[in-house]
Amino acid sequence: HGREHSFPTRRSSDLLHVSCSVGIAVYPEDGREIDILMRNADAAMYQAKEQGRNNAQFFTIEMDRRARERMQIENDLRGGIERGELRVYYQPRVDCRSGTLLGAEALVRWQHPQHGLMTPANFIPVAEESGLIIPLGTWVLAAACRQQVRWRESGFADIVISVNLSAGQLHDPELLATLQRAITEHGVNPAMIELELTESLLMEDVTSTIDLLLTIKRLGISLSVDDFGTGYSSLNYLHRFPIDKLKIDQSFVRDMLDDPNDLAITKAVIGLGHTLGLRVVAEGVEEVEEMRVLAAAGCDELQGYLFGKPMPAEAFENWRAAADPGNKGG
Ligand code: C2E
Ligand code: CA
Ligand code: CA
Repeated sequence: HGREHSFPTRRSSDLLHVSCSVGIAVYPEDGREIDILMRNADAAMYQAKEQGRNNAQFFTIEMDRRARERMQIENDLRGGIERGELRVYYQPRVDCRSGTLLGAEALVRWQHPQHGLMTPANFIPVAEESGLIIPLGTWVLAAACRQQVRWRESGFADIVISVNLSAGQLHDPELLATLQRAITEHGVNPAMIELELTESLLMEDVTSTIDLLLTIKRLGISLSVDDFGTGYSSLNYLHRFPIDKLKIDQSFVRDMLDDPNDLAITKAVIGLGHTLGLRVVAEGVEEVEEMRVLAAAGCDELQGYLFGKPMPAEAFENWRAAADPGNKGG
């Protein structure tokens, strides 16, 4: 029983790639009734997908536990979005040379009534799998736009707020309308909003993605490639995307000082980005020495715990006032 519908939604060529993930449940050990057997085969299929797709998995008791957990999170999250349990945290991004604050990345959190504050790793995958990523993403976008305007109006120097975009959102036919609505409803300057797309998402379906991104750019929004270096970019295509920024994945920055390969990759990405006329951001900067090396390599912007962790808007304002007292809002 393997039901994976992975038909690409937009593809300009008539070539269709279909992969097959198979979940297997065996009668009678895995269920005596048909719906239990099917449910368990489903759980095994999810496991097959998680193991990189295109494989088959037999059902186990552990899968049953995880499937229940997943279903619980999905139900809770559906209600949680409506009850206003989501929060947006903001992490500063600074200029590599001057240390000036340039922007903030909006990172979602979920204030779960029983489990407390949950990080995206615990619910974003479920949101993506269930389609809840659409209302969740729309909510984060609105919150970020509202915050951008609020900070501008309170007299703080204007900063760019970047928002992460998932595959489900990129494939949503309503995406453009959602972006347009967020901009007009909140009266935000679109130049102060940036969308982050992962490298693998970008390379999924190059031709139609380029078209879509061009339309988004026409709204005035800027685009950055997240987790760069972890996917498989066709360098041949990279220059055709209307992107503004590359964000070097934090795994390279983390090991840069110990591993000469990671240092070499980091420097190469900076060089590549600059050759393509893009700004380059390093993420996950935790140490002063990393900052020095990145500055020497010509990196443009930095983000990481060294400067500030993701924090609620109010804490961000305090951080800002302390880090840059000359720039306090009125
Ligand atoms: P990301 O977009 O790569 O975000 C960066 C992650 O690195 C954040 O984790 C951030 O807290 C963490 N980070 C930043 N600086 C450092 C550092 O110096 N050291 C270490 N160890 N970590 C650092 P977070 O907030 O847990 O988010 C994880 C991922 O969840 C994000 O990765 C992003 O892919 C996804 N995500 C977060 N918010 C949203 C959202 O609103 N929508 C969507 N679609 N995805 C989101
Ligand atoms: Ca990001
Ligand atoms: Ca990233």
